[in-house]
Amino acid sequence: MFKIITDVQGSFELNNGVKMPYFGLGVFQSENATKSVIKALDVGYRLIDTASIYNNENEVGNAIRKHDVSRKDIFVVSKVWNSDQGYDSTIKAYNDSLKRLKMDYLDLYLIHWPVQNKFVDTWKALEYLYNEGRVKAIGVSNFMRNHLDELLPTCSIIPMVNQMEFHPRLVQQDLVDFCTENGIKYEAWSPLMKGKILEIELLKILSEKYSKTIVQIVLRWNLQKGIITIPKSSNPGRIKSNANIFDFELSTEDMKSIDALDRNSRTGPDPNNFNF
Ligand code: NDP
Repeated sequence: MFKIITDVQGSFELNNGVKMPYFGLGVFQSENATKSVIKALDVGYRLIDTASIYNNENEVGNAIRKHDVSRKDIFVVSKVWNSDQGYDSTIKAYNDSLKRLKMDYLDLYLIHWPVQNKFVDTWKALEYLYNEGRVKAIGVSNFMRNHLDELLPTCSIIPMVNQMEFHPRLVQQDLVDFCTENGIKYEAWSPLMKGKILEIELLKILSEKYSKTIVQIVLRWNLQKGIITIPKSSNPGRIKSNANIFDFELSTEDMKSIDALDRNSRTGPDPNNFNF
């Protein structure tokens, strides 16, 4: 797997043949999304993850337009928010996101959360947008096995991605395996546990062993597990150092020891029990 992890612009292939960079920048709660995206593009990032609820699609769009890298070389992701779910409202939400981004397509559009009694219709709308050639790939986020079991039999297009909370304390290997078996690429949100990974003792030991930061160790572990990752930072130095993970390789044994840190413990909401 890690033989294909080459550099910050490397990619994994989605089930429709589209290549998605495996490393990117998240901009949830970004202190200055325009500046952060420009810095990330400077450093070589080519995947940017936003959402309508982050309220910064405008800033993300501005940063991309300002930058020399051409739009077609950047993989832009956004998500339909819960209150916009349903068939017609999802199509409207997609158009509104494009207006805010000032773009004519997205590379990937995701259902942000599995809103009960809505997400099947929302998915139909994403299939429509995809079939119309308005978006390069479609997927879901926060879909546990039960949500996928409900969605998949209704799909004419299998989701290309499932973006999930994923870090050393929340591995959900069964779900990762299920997605892989079904051609759904797994993507990590909060890969750094919002900074809390810095407190984990074993990671300090590995950091010394490999002469890499704890964050670099964890992001490399994501990629070696075949998982796309989108750490958030608004700090230019950290945006740069987070991407410096292509000059070392974790041993199989150390990969397993990070896997073993799993406590099935979340930093964010539970997809089977959220009220927003
Ligand atoms: P992360 O796990 O990426 O952690 C971000 C935090 O870590 C910030 O406080 C950041 O601070 C800090 N940090 C970043 N780099 C370093 C470093 N090298 N050393 C120390 N601290 C560091 O959390 P997020 O929740 O933001 O997740 C990442 C992205 O995933 C989001 O931005 C969003 O795009 C997506 N997401 C998706 C969700 C979904 O439901 N689909 C839910 C939540 C997130 P600083 O900025 O100061 O560097």
